Amino acid sequence: MPVVDRVILITNDDGVHSRGILELKQALQDMGDVYVVAPDRGRSACGHGITLHKPLRLHRVTLADGSEGWSTSGLPTDCVHIGIGAVCPQRPDLVFSGINLGANLGWELTYSGTVAGAMEGAAFGVPSVAISVTTYEDGDVFGPSARFARRLADILLERPLPEGAFLNVNVPALPEEDIAGVAVTRLGIRRYPGRVEARRDPVGRTYYWLGGDEPEDGLEEGTDVLAVREGFISVTPVHLDLTAHSAIEHVRSWPLEGCLAGAGSPAAD
Ligand code: MN
Repeated sequence: MPVVDRVILITNDDGVHSRGILELKQALQDMGDVYVVAPDRGRSACGHGITLHKPLRLHRVTLADGSEGWSTSGLPTDCVHIGIGAVCPQRPDLVFSGINLGANLGWELTYSGTVAGAMEGAAFGVPSVAISVTTYEDGDVFGPSARFARRLADILLERPLPEGAFLNVNVPALPEEDIAGVAVTRLGIRRYPGRVEARRDPVGRTYYWLGGDEPEDGLEEGTDVLAVREGFISVTPVHLDLTAHSAIEHVRSWPLEGCLAGAGSPAAD
């Protein structure tokens, strides 16, 4: 296979035919060979799931601009595996996931299929970015985020992140001239109250709908939730290391040895 200068892999969780992934592809395609490998349907909120116990299908598709893409029957994480292992002619130089319709901020990150795509790219050791626009209204909303992705890609190639880190980017759904700036942030607090709605099906059995509630944001200084609220693009470096480092010493102080069968009191060591 001929070696090309640069290979970029793009995935998302809104599906291969979403407008956000197309605009991302168009923004990056002057940089090298761009491969779109994405789910064949919407897979939002699938998190970092991976398909290990059934076959995955891969189909060549034509995107709305007439260019080629690939759809899979899997999730974004599957798409990164298939993209790297079976579609890209060489290891990609960049993995981008998005542009997602809907923010991915703070504590909601682990629900996100968009973020999972970048997380998997980082696990492969490839510089990776998840990018979302803060609206669910489809249409002409991707311009600023696509242009930002293009500029970010240049910087990321020149100045790579530490191993295991990737970027989570959220772009306000505003005209570019109304965006307040770019803020490098940490993940803030965004929690969902956890609405559970019980309904009855036609034969009288109860079923449940989750979600539909508005998130509650902790608007602390320096966080992604606050930056986006104030009209900034948030750029959060995220690490695959989910360890709560601040809790290690505390947990070490617990008498865990005493939990083992036959162990003496931990005070005896
Ligand atoms: Mn989505």
